[in-house]
Amino acid sequence: HFDFDVESIRKDFPILSRKVNGYPLVYFDNAATSQTPQQVIDSIVDYYSRYNANIHRGVHSLSQEATDAYEQARIKIQKHFNAARSHEIIFTAGTTHAINLVANGFASLLQKGDEIIVSALEHHSNIVPWQMMCERTGALLKVIPMLENGTLDMQAFYNLLSDQTKLVFVNHVSNALGTVNPVEEIIEKTHEAGAAVLLDGAQAAPHIKADVQALDVDFYVASAHKMCGPTGVGVLYGKEEWLKKLPPYQGGGEMIETVSFEKTTYAGLPHKFEAGTPNICGGIAFGAAIDYMNSIGFEKIAAYEHELLEYATQKLLEIEDLRIYGLSEEKTAVISFNIGSIHPYDIGSIIDKLGIAVRTGHHCAQPVMDYYKIPGTVRASFSFYNTKEEIDVFVEAVKRAKNMLS
Ligand code: PMP
Repeated sequence: HFDFDVESIRKDFPILSRKVNGYPLVYFDNAATSQTPQQVIDSIVDYYSRYNANIHRGVHSLSQEATDAYEQARIKIQKHFNAARSHEIIFTAGTTHAINLVANGFASLLQKGDEIIVSALEHHSNIVPWQMMCERTGALLKVIPMLENGTLDMQAFYNLLSDQTKLVFVNHVSNALGTVNPVEEIIEKTHEAGAAVLLDGAQAAPHIKADVQALDVDFYVASAHKMCGPTGVGVLYGKEEWLKKLPPYQGGGEMIETVSFEKTTYAGLPHKFEAGTPNICGGIAFGAAIDYMNSIGFEKIAAYEHELLEYATQKLLEIEDLRIYGLSEEKTAVISFNIGSIHPYDIGSIIDKLGIAVRTGHHCAQPVMDYYKIPGTVRASFSFYNTKEEIDVFVEAVKRAKNMLS
């Protein structure tokens, strides 16, 4: 066992001391959004209390302070993901926005008959933008099938790769099951086929510190709100050569060099992709969230969360008729399960009355549910501020719900 002072970490999160429906909150919906530590809340309050101003265009001091803080946050994100250049970090409104930005860009690079490859394990936000792009271009969308244990059928993937393949986009970690994909292998084989890779890191980023240069990945996307940051802000990392090739996604202020009715020219990176006044405060708070998580340390976070995962998995599997989906070896702290034929929504509603927050439903990953032929699951997802005591409370509540519903 290693030193992990969860009790003092919990004190950083004001929401964890509140009651819900008369019971102490047990927050196990971290895969949907994480909670926010005081340090991040303070960065938001500080911004609006002291230096709220528009960035990049003001000569006045407040504008300069806000610009500096925003650009410092970009550098924090750059360092965190080990990007080679700060202009390879594009602020977005989140993962969904980042994927749409890239899909829109590829629409002008692809032709009829080109192929792009997705996996059966994706969140809808890494499926639908590409389907829309295929409708515009005539490109073909191929799907890597999944296996019973929630992993990808890698042999089938190798068979899908061809000279026609232009882009492969898969998640680093599945939000529905928590399974970690073999991204190094995916990147290597895709590059051998001469295509690019986009990794959806929305679920990985809270648990795994991805090194985009070591991975040699072409695009990596994530959302701040799953990493102890605020909603409405996220990141697109793109290799410089790719970001230069892609056209802008949205037009407006900030993203131009010169504008006239005869001809407008675009700004360089990263501004080409950052039209309009951005989520300035959100970007700064994203930087504060990354600082906070790094101050705890991703290795410690991963080791502690793994203990929680093992503990909860073992306890839940003692419940008769309980089935966990996607029991692969490589998992982050997510447990997706059902009990017999009980509807997941009923379990979720009953345990909510006891102060426990879990997600129920298809988790925006309907193809995964279709694979298991189920309407949805109960998903409990843990973070480094959760405890074994909370898992005990949760398991007892699930048993109680089962008794009431059987
Ligand atoms: N991909 C995955 C794997 C996710 O878990 C999520 C969020 N549930 C998204 C994409 C979309 O992220 P956002 O809603 O923050 O844009």
